[in-house]
Amino acid sequence: MNAILSPSRPKPSEATISDLTTELSRRFGDRVSTSAAIREQHGHTLTWVKNQPPDIVFYARTTEEVSEIVKLCAEKRVPIVPFGTGTSLEGHINAPDGGVCIDLSLMKRIIAVHEEDLDCVVEAGVTRKELNEHLRDKGLFFPIDPGADASIGGMVATRASGTNAVRYGTMKDVVLSLTVVLPTGEIVKTSSRARKSSAGYDLTRLMIGSEGTLGIVTEITLKLNGIPEAISAGICPFPTVKAACDAVILTIQSGIPMARIELLDEVQVKAVNLHSKLDLPESPLLLLEFHGSEAGVQEQAERFGEIAAEFTDKPFVWATKPEERSRLWQARHDAYWAARGLRPGAQSVATDVCVPISRLAECVAETKRDILESGMIAPIVGHVGDGNFHVQPLVNADDPAEVAACEAFVDRLVKRAVAMEGTCTGEHGVGQKKMKYLEIEHGADALNLMRVLKRAMDPHNIMNPGKIVAL
Ligand SMILES: Cc1cc2nc3c(=O)[nH]c(=O)nc-3n(C[C@H](O)[C@H](O)[C@H](O)COP(=O)(O)OP(=O)(O)OC[C@H]3O[C@@H](n4cnc5c(N)ncnc54)[C@H](O)[C@@H]3O)c2cc1C
Repeated sequence: MNAILSPSRPKPSEATISDLTTELSRRFGDRVSTSAAIREQHGHTLTWVKNQPPDIVFYARTTEEVSEIVKLCAEKRVPIVPFGTGTSLEGHINAPDGGVCIDLSLMKRIIAVHEEDLDCVVEAGVTRKELNEHLRDKGLFFPIDPGADASIGGMVATRASGTNAVRYGTMKDVVLSLTVVLPTGEIVKTSSRARKSSAGYDLTRLMIGSEGTLGIVTEITLKLNGIPEAISAGICPFPTVKAACDAVILTIQSGIPMARIELLDEVQVKAVNLHSKLDLPESPLLLLEFHGSEAGVQEQAERFGEIAAEFTDKPFVWATKPEERSRLWQARHDAYWAARGLRPGAQSVATDVCVPISRLAECVAETKRDILESGMIAPIVGHVGDGNFHVQPLVNADDPAEVAACEAFVDRLVKRAVAMEGTCTGEHGVGQKKMKYLEIEHGADALNLMRVLKRAMDPHNIMNPGKIVAL
């Protein structure tokens, strides 16, 4: 397979950007911005990845508008960066070659909810919380819950997941169909509302996880779930992260249908206590949730309790009231912000890996040892039921030695996970920062196939260039 495909598009000139700004402003008025503050907000801001703002930000309202602007950019060979809510963590929304950021946050229509089919159709700018707010009275919910209130379009683009993935899957499992604007400006629908289909290539899954490099998702058809009859949640402390992970492995291998099983190491628990005013025991902790019928939930909890007792002598504590449960999970979702409070002023380097469940305890324990030896403050949290965990080193970005030590730590973490037949990212995605790991994970031929696909769909390399695969 032809390995190297060279980029065909030089960075757009100032004159091109100026002409484009004039043209877009004429067509779309104040939904076009070149203000420095707005442009900066649309570059990467959440970690130490350097901010690379676009030249122009455009707030789209319809699929047709997106198509119109993509055609214009294609003609002028101007890069495009799609934008949802900007919560991605690996430099995904940076514009290294400038160009136009297409912000989809105004595309907020919930187009249809088909209660009888348990699905819905939404525009890309709807956030996961907005969708659940809309669904609550219908007894339905959308289960994918990254810590941030991300847009559904952004979640499709990063193949996101969250605390519920162990039971309900990730974005790759819940998307039925997409409307996508291709790099040529053409609008395609990738599939139907049918629950399954054998009709041709799976374009839906090609787009899921493509991080805006193959097209812009404007509408999404999603599977929904009924709100379970009974929900119960609890916490269980363990003496070490390894003991907690061993309990997770046995729980999953025993087939207990956990709805959520989340690890917090003692550093993260301390951060959460300070940030969310809780008094959780400051040792490695599992946060758990069970969904089902009253009897089913009771039985699952008892079975988990028996397994946990093999690895800890600490009690399993229930959050019985719904408000206690919500407080617990809100605290879990705020773990990122809580961790930042442990070292005010430091940069956070949130990174994630995922390994087969049988390797989880080994991978987390080795990582914990690595953190202790390197002397970093780096809390661990994880959607451990899937073998997925996050480490969040807090680093003085002005100290080159600390930065180098942190980069070396992330490098060891990724290589450790890949050596255990895992992945360099379970849910955050590749963006700019993890591109260098795709070859060790997938091999040169698979990476070249990704390049061939990218080149075939985006011959002028205008769609989120400099992400996932270098051309
Ligand atoms: C506090 C915190 C906690 C987090 N927890 C989790 C977690 O538990 N699980 C998880 O998976 N992630 C998590 N994340 C990461 C982040 O929330 C997800 O990656 C999310 O899916 C990004 O959505 P977004 O709308 O913010 O997308 P953006 O950041 O705006 O964009 C992300 C990528 O998708 C592309 N894109 C955006 N919209 C579209 C579109 N409509 N069409 C095509 N491409 C598009 C962008 O170009 C970019 O490459 C967390 C982030 C934070 C800050």
